[in-house]
Amino acid sequence: MPNSTNQFIKPVSCRVNSNGNLEIGGCDLVELAQKYGTPLYVLDEETIRAVCRDYKKAFSLYKKVNMMYASKALCTMATSALMYSEGFGFDVVSAGEMYTVYKAGVDMSKVLFNGNNKSVDELAMAIDLGVGRISVDNFFELSLLDELAKSRNKSVDILLRITPGIECHTHEYIQTGHLDSKFGFDLTQIDEAVEFVLSSNLKLHGLHAHIGSQIFETAVYRDEIDILIRELARLDEKFGLKLDEINIGGGLGVKYVDSDLPPSTYEIANVIISAIEDAIKKYNIDAPAIFLEPGRSIISTAGVTLYTLGSSKQVPKGRKYFAVDGGMADNARPSMYQAEYCAVVANKPEENSLQTVTIAGRFCESGDILIHNIELPELEEGDILCVFNTGAYNYSMASNYNRVEKPAMVLVNNSQSDIIVSRETLDDLIAHDIIPDRLRVDV
Ligand SMILES: *Cc1c(COP(=O)(O)O)cnc(C)c1O
Repeated sequence: MPNSTNQFIKPVSCRVNSNGNLEIGGCDLVELAQKYGTPLYVLDEETIRAVCRDYKKAFSLYKKVNMMYASKALCTMATSALMYSEGFGFDVVSAGEMYTVYKAGVDMSKVLFNGNNKSVDELAMAIDLGVGRISVDNFFELSLLDELAKSRNKSVDILLRITPGIECHTHEYIQTGHLDSKFGFDLTQIDEAVEFVLSSNLKLHGLHAHIGSQIFETAVYRDEIDILIRELARLDEKFGLKLDEINIGGGLGVKYVDSDLPPSTYEIANVIISAIEDAIKKYNIDAPAIFLEPGRSIISTAGVTLYTLGSSKQVPKGRKYFAVDGGMADNARPSMYQAEYCAVVANKPEENSLQTVTIAGRFCESGDILIHNIELPELEEGDILCVFNTGAYNYSMASNYNRVEKPAMVLVNNSQSDIIVSRETLDDLIAHDIIPDRLRVDV
């Protein structure tokens, strides 16, 4: 079976160029660091397009498939426009993500709104912008949404988010489908939810689940699909409801380090399609349309972060630390999930690795360590470190901790680089600050 780009650590266009520097999308990373400053998020367009096409190709055997990119992994107007041009719809979880895809020109009927505590304003906005589906998470939201629909004299298209009760072996914070999760209706609550829907202004199209993230085992999708289709058949029998959509969420893993062995989009598609075929025979229903919501596997591998090395410290008889000009505010994953990363020095990618060092961030927390124990060549101040696989859940989780400006992001392709998110300025940082008159100091 062919590979897909989520199975590689580096972007597809990453290579050493004639200057002996690392390049991505035909752009020398050392030159990008000089031109735009560091830290800098770099995204490779070719890698994003390649994985979008892998997904489409892998699922092309199944006629009724809808690819929805999970915006929470990385949401910008440019990346939204790019994925839209590849035929993807969008899964959004906030007014901000909804607004971003809307402003990027996305047809809102190709958007699904998710989340376990959507606000009244967000639900109203989703209805008013004509979002294609709202995945309703709980009873409170069902009645809220129904009131909003009635007050507008509209019918609203929904899915019910359910908790299938499947454990997958991933980090506890990114497991979502197990029974005592904060997300979705328990299987035993579905009937009550459906009874509510049947006497409401809501139109139910199907069921939605998402079992976790950074998933490497394919069997969990099999179990998930069996449960979703079993429930469709049961609801047909009990309520005469012909639901014809299942949304199986996202979750396909990526390769952060050599020991990560994620399946390809092709392997996952084979498992999903055969699981659907088996389940529709077993429960005797028509094949439903499927919705997939990959986030990480679409965008992670395409992204790298460039940092400039600054101070270093040799702890007597201990570790050797090198500090970079970013850290937990631009990449929260190491301190939040003990996530691991690979990196190389972009200005000497081929030099032998002679030492084991720890890459520390610049933020005021002892836990702000980007990479523990990585083998790198001799390092000096000013070297450009390229950390791989930072496209997903880096910028989207970035903060202004220590009042540090968020980095810029560039999209590279065919030797061209375009800023798609500009670097924050010091004035951006104080733009929302207000000093009450009584505290004003005359300067
Ligand atoms: C987070 C999430 C996704 C995307 O997960 P990835 O692991 O990034 O693919 C998809 N659907 C839902 C409902 C989610 O919460």
